[in-house]
Amino acid sequence: MSRLAAGVLALVVLSGCALVPPPGVVVPVARLAMLNEQRVPGGLCAVFDDTSTPAAFRESLRDYVDCARESWAPLLEAVGRKAPEPGVYLEAADWASYCTGALDEEDAGMFCIADGSLVFADELQTIAGDSDLAAPSVVFHEYAHAVQQELGMVLDTPPGDPTRRIELQASCWSAMLMRTLVGLEATEEVSTALVEDAAAGSDSDHGTPESLRRWTLVGFDATTIGECDTSRALESAVA
Ligand SMILES: [Zn+2]
Repeated sequence: MSRLAAGVLALVVLSGCALVPPPGVVVPVARLAMLNEQRVPGGLCAVFDDTSTPAAFRESLRDYVDCARESWAPLLEAVGRKAPEPGVYLEAADWASYCTGALDEEDAGMFCIADGSLVFADELQTIAGDSDLAAPSVVFHEYAHAVQQELGMVLDTPPGDPTRRIELQASCWSAMLMRTLVGLEATEEVSTALVEDAAAGSDSDHGTPESLRRWTLVGFDATTIGECDTSRALESAVA
C-alpha cells in the first residue's frame, strides 16, 4: 500500500553512507562517458515496504535492491559491465557483512567497499514506517555506489570535493530511480519532499543543502544518466 499516492509524506533525515576504503582503482572515463549517453530506465520498482518485522523489512530492502539491479542491468551491459548483486544486511539483525558495525550513528545505510555489500541501519525500518520515500531512496543511493564501483570509479577518495562528487552523483542517481517508481506520483509535493530529505543529510562529505537539493532535483528530472555526472560539474555546484 503506497502512502505516497495519498500525499502523506514525512520528512526524514537520510544520511548517505560511510565508505570503508579498499585499494584504489583506475577511473575508466571512456566507460562512464558511454554510460552517460544511456537513457533513464523505465519503472521496474514498485513502492512497497513491509515494516512489520526486521525480517520482513530486510526482504523489502532486498526487493528494492533487486529492482535497482534490474533497472541498471541493461545500462551496464551496454558498456560491458554487469549489474552488481550485493549482499543486503540490516545492521543489528545480521553480522555477516565485513562492514557490519561500521555504520555511523547518523547514517541510514552504507555501501561496504570491502565486500560490495549494502548495510542498513535498524532505524531505517522505523523511518520507512512513516515515509514511503525513505527505504527506496536510501537503497537506490547505496546501490549507486555499487554501480560506481562496478564502473571502476575510485570510491575511497579524500574528504572534500572528490568525495562530494561521488556522493552527489549517488544521490542524483537515487532520485533518478525514485522518479521511475511505480506507485509514486511524480508531483511537486513528492519532489519537494525528496529534495528536502536529501538536504537534511548535508555534511562535509555529502555536500551543502543547496548542492544536495540541486543534484536530487537534477536526478528526479533526468532523462539520461549523464545528467548526474558530477565529475564535470563546476566546483561551486558540488560544494
Ligand atoms: Zn553515499
